[in-house]
Order: sequence, then C-alpha cells, then structure tokens
Amino acid sequence: MRQACYESAIHRKLAEPQAAGRTGRIMIRTRFAPSPNGSLHLGHAYAAIVAHDLAREAGGDFLLRIEDIDGARSRPELAGEFRADLAWLGLAWDSEMLQSARLDRYAAAGERLKGMGLLYPCRCTRAEIAEAARKIGPDGPVYPGTCRDRAIEIDGGVSWRLDVGKALGRTGDLFWEDRIAGTQQAHPEVFGDVVLLRKDAPASYHLAATLDDAADGITLVTRGLDLFAATHIHRLLQALLDLPVPAWHHHALLLDDDGKKLAKRRNSPSLADRRASGEDGPALAASLRGGNFPAGISLSGILHRHA
Ligand SMILES: [Zn+2]
Repeated sequence: MRQACYESAIHRKLAEPQAAGRTGRIMIRTRFAPSPNGSLHLGHAYAAIVAHDLAREAGGDFLLRIEDIDGARSRPELAGEFRADLAWLGLAWDSEMLQSARLDRYAAAGERLKGMGLLYPCRCTRAEIAEAARKIGPDGPVYPGTCRDRAIEIDGGVSWRLDVGKALGRTGDLFWEDRIAGTQQAHPEVFGDVVLLRKDAPASYHLAATLDDAADGITLVTRGLDLFAATHIHRLLQALLDLPVPAWHHHALLLDDDGKKLAKRRNSPSLADRRASGEDGPALAASLRGGNFPAGISLSGILHRHA
C-alpha cells in the first residue's frame, strides 16, 4: 500500500512538469548530490533514480554534484566509484560539479550575511549546547542562543550562527512548495540559530546546498523526507540572499528491517559491491522504480497534501 502511494505520487508529479517542459516555460533541472565519505547504497540509488526520472520525464536536465567539502571525511577517489554506480544503474547525467570549486561563493555569502548583521560567532561545544538546550529540534538539541549577545573573540576557530529571529523579522513570513505535501510555511525557528559557517569546514550543509542549487539552476530539489525540515532554513537563506526559489520533492526513504533509514553500516551491501558481484544494474533500477525492494527493505510513507 505504501508502495502504491509512492507510485501514484511519482506518476502524478511526472505528468505536471512534462506539460510545462513542452511549452518551454519551465525547464526542469534536478540533481543528485552524494558526499564522497562512503560508498553508495540502495537508498542513494533510489534518490538518484527519483531525481533522474523527474528530470527526464519532463525533458529536463539531471546533474551530478559531488559534495566534497567535508575535509576530514571526504575521500575524493569515491567520486569515480559514484560515476560507475550511476552508469551501471543506467542513469546518465548532463553535467557535473564539485562543491570544492565553490568555496569563494560560500565565503562571499557568509560575508554578505555578516554585513547584514545576521551572523554571530559561537564557540559552544556540542556538550555545552546539549546541557543548555531547552528544546529538541529536527537535528537534536536546539541551540538556545547562548552567544547571540556575547562579545566573542573571533581569532582562531569560531562557528558563525544565523540569528533566525532577526532574519525572519527582515524577510517576513515565507512559504515554499513541496510537490507532494503542498504549500508549506517556512518555520526555520524550529532549528534555533543554525551554524552557517563551520569552524572545521568551509560552509554548513544548509548554506552550501542552498547556494549550489541556485548556482546550478536547480528548479526542482529532490531529496529524502528526512531533510523536509531543512527546507525551512533553505527557504530563509534564499530570501536573505536574493536567490531563486525552486520547488521541492521530498521522497520516501528506504528503510531496513528495524524501520531505520538505510545506511551502509547496517545490512545493505553497497552499490559497488552489487556491481562487482555481477548484478544487473538496469534490472535493479527497474525493481526500485516498480516498488519491488530486496528482502528486508521497505519504503517509508510520504507526506500527503492536506485535503
Ligand atoms: Zn555559543
């Protein structure tokens, strides 16, 4: 039944951009954006297929973006493995980019937000935040704003946080469109003041992903439902930085037999393992499209549009 929900949702969504694509009004552009810090597994294959198929069915473009700015964990050699995995599944992409080529863009956006008085430095540790937090948000303990009005020495490593309340005061109410769940009001405050510039990396996921999608001309951002709430922050950043606003398609997640999101460390062989064992890649892709998953793997529900 869950699989039927997925299929009807996908097929309904495929029909809309196709019509727009033919009139030339909207060029659909999607992307698959893996991080090279581990091999891809079936959950990645599913995400890549969703992004690829939504673009292709609309006559649009599908991009591959390697999110390689997490210096400590990033293994650049995995990019080659990812390309081979996608080709094995029968997915072709129109262009490719590396996040590490975009560092100037992240820094410039950070400076612009600082110039607007919306970022503040913070040295709090994870443990300090966990102790001081009064709420749990989508990413765990919500930062309680400890450093918002503190004078912090900026020399050495600090993180820079977005003053979300001040930012929302500037933008006013914001809305975004999920192609499955419908119109959403942005509630970035559920995260508290998120880090945008990390002391250990050039940019946070939120800042880098938002800037990259704009730079790549992505019109339909596809990703798993586990990132649904992140879109509240991304919509706010788009408003602050005058970026185009895409539509979103948050798809269901592949779950293992414990009902947890599929991950390499649990019971799923990597795509590279499957490829090396001689498995038929296009047949696997067809099974995933049809909702036929290997034993022990199921699909989560999706968020439906309000009636
Ligand atoms: Zn702090």
